[in-house]
Amino acid sequence: MQLQLQTWQEVEVYLQNSRGIILPIGSTEQHGPIGLIGTDAICAEVIARGVGDAAGALVAPTIAVGMAQHHLDFPGTMTMRPSTLIAMLRDIVESLARHGFERFYFLNGHGGNIATLSAAFSEIYAGRSLAPGSNIPPVKCRLRNWWANQDVQALAKELYGNAEGSHATPSEVALTQFAYPDAIKSAILDPPVAPWGDFTDAADYRSKFPDGRIGSNSALATPEAGRRLYEAAVAAITKDYQSWTAG
Ligand SMILES: [Zn+2]
Repeated sequence: MQLQLQTWQEVEVYLQNSRGIILPIGSTEQHGPIGLIGTDAICAEVIARGVGDAAGALVAPTIAVGMAQHHLDFPGTMTMRPSTLIAMLRDIVESLARHGFERFYFLNGHGGNIATLSAAFSEIYAGRSLAPGSNIPPVKCRLRNWWANQDVQALAKELYGNAEGSHATPSEVALTQFAYPDAIKSAILDPPVAPWGDFTDAADYRSKFPDGRIGSNSALATPEAGRRLYEAAVAAITKDYQSWTAG
């Protein structure tokens, strides 16, 4: 159930039965020669909507721009500074908390968002701890990366082994191919498996990873694998969402 497709009266009724909401968050950044710029936002959004349908949970509008400064040397990438993203996340949570939402389940599609999301949660809790009324009702935030659960990891390993890599992975590319089969791209990847390494800023990143990928062979992606990854992710995350909001 998408928040955007409800009326305020429907949200009021929803809040009588549930205090939870799923917030997909991704990124708008290069994903190598065959990965879409919107990969991280698309993955978070389609899985969040699948979980929302399975769990009868509201899904907030996708936060499609994240913390991606290291990808800025590639055209089409957009980023927020960590401080901007923290401020935005705090305003989003406090807006919904005002209406009675208490459980904020961030479904993340981008590894580069993790540190900033954790800092945003600390900022939100600090604001509530420092306020005279304390944290009442108790707001709780949870971060889950769609790929970081046992079932999805096992499937990615079975499908791609070490060619999964860490950026522009065949798993995330496959998921976007399943979601948007009309936007499947092809290109020669040279070398097939991209180099590994660490990075600092955008110039450093581009000098080490010239086509944008890290450690991955995106060309192994297929829409059929994307369907399997989607189903595994929705099942695992639905379980996690339901047990967290019940507790
Ligand atoms: Zn990605």
